[in-house]
Amino acid sequence: MHTNVMEGLPDWRDESNGGLVRGALWLLQVIGIGNVFTKSQLREAFPDISQIDRRVRDLRDWGWVIDTSREDGSLRQSEQRFVKPGISVWDPAERKKRTRAASASTRQAALERAKFACELCGRPAGHPSGTRLHLTRRIPLAMGGDDGLENLTVLCSDCSAARDSGHGVSELAAQASSLPMRDRTRLLTWITMGERPRTPVEDIWAQYQQLSSADQQQLARHLARLLNEDTQVEDAMP
Ligand SMILES: [Zn+2]
Repeated sequence: MHTNVMEGLPDWRDESNGGLVRGALWLLQVIGIGNVFTKSQLREAFPDISQIDRRVRDLRDWGWVIDTSREDGSLRQSEQRFVKPGISVWDPAERKKRTRAASASTRQAALERAKFACELCGRPAGHPSGTRLHLTRRIPLAMGGDDGLENLTVLCSDCSAARDSGHGVSELAAQASSLPMRDRTRLLTWITMGERPRTPVEDIWAQYQQLSSADQQQLARHLARLLNEDTQVEDAMP
């Protein structure tokens, strides 16, 4: 007997699922295999999800075949064809079978965005020694997160361990209240901005780590010379 692929599927309108999952279900339940859809149909169906086209494009990483005019000359530029479903992204068990590493170029892009340092505490790789950087997902795969650049974050070993052990909010609040006023203000600024802006000196330090040792020495000599000049100028002052 032919099994209905639609049987037992969650409803695509269920807002507790992420864009990737809802997009997949929408293709199956609304568009149907082999049919064409447009970007505006997609946006109309998901007015609440920003970048839904990208989420649907990400399905290709999960084995979904979605052709564009590049793959299928009969399609207009605004059209895509849902050719074939891939991994059942709404099923955590199915998703786990596929242990996907982020692509090399995405990893590189994430590290460059982080300027090769922890995006939480700013520590660069190897400083202090033993500090390793990990790529982790902001939203885990099981909760609809993906391996797109936006969902990846670069954390040092300590920060990722702290995140995994899940410090409770009350513990963090206690730690935060024991900070000096200046640090509390900085923390609130970071929280408001949604990021920790690197100071210029931290930026240079992080990029210095990436230089060859010859270039590192050159930069060190340059700074030493500058410092020396500054000192001489100070000495010459009355
Ligand atoms: Zn860190």
